[in-house]
Amino acid sequence: MNKVIITILSIIVLMISILVGIQVFKTQNNNVTEHQIAQISEEIEDDCTEEWKELYEQNTMNLQVNTQENIRLSPNCSFTFQTHYTGCGHTSRKYMNIPQQLVNKTEEELQELYNEWKIKTFTTNEVILEKEETGECGEHYVLRDVDGKIVIYVIKDGKEEEYEKTEISTDYLTETDKITMKDGLKVIRKRELKSSH
Ligand SMILES: [Zn+2]
Repeated sequence: MNKVIITILSIIVLMISILVGIQVFKTQNNNVTEHQIAQISEEIEDDCTEEWKELYEQNTMNLQVNTQENIRLSPNCSFTFQTHYTGCGHTSRKYMNIPQQLVNKTEEELQELYNEWKIKTFTTNEVILEKEETGECGEHYVLRDVDGKIVIYVIKDGKEEEYEKTEISTDYLTETDKITMKDGLKVIRKRELKSSH
C-alpha cells in the first residue's frame, strides 16, 4: 500500500511541477511579448509624431502658397492687361512695367486696387489681369477712297470715325482694289491687338 501511495504522490508532485513549469514559462513569455509590444508601439508613436509634424509643416507651406500671402510684387514685375471684347471676339493686350506704387503689394492688395479686373496670373515677376467688355475692340478699320486718296476710318460703336488721311493715291491700285475700296476695305490691326500703343 505504501508503495502505491508513494507512486501516486510522486505522480501528483511531478504533474504539479510540470503545471507550475508551464505556468512560469507562459508568464515569462507573456511578459516578453507585452514588453515587446510596448516597445514597438512606442516606436510607431514616434514615427507617427514625426510624420505628423512633417505633414503639418507641409500643409502650412501649401496653405501659404495657396493664399500667396508671402508673394509680393517685385520692382521688375511685368503687367499685362487683357481685355476680351464679346462684340468681335478679339482680345486686346496691353503690356507695361509695374507702377511704382504697386511694388511689394500682395495679391489681395492688388485685387482691391484693380477691383474691376480678374487676376489671372500672380507671381513675383508677372501679373496678368483680365476682363470682358461688350462691343468691339476698337482695332477695326475701314480704308476708303476719298478724292483719289486713301483715308483710314476707325469703327467705334458701329460708327466710322476718320482716323488718318493718307497721301496714298488710289491711282496705283488695281481696278479690283479700286472697286473694293469704293465699298470700304475692312481691316483689323492684328499687331495692335497683341501690343500696347
Ligand atoms: Zn475686334
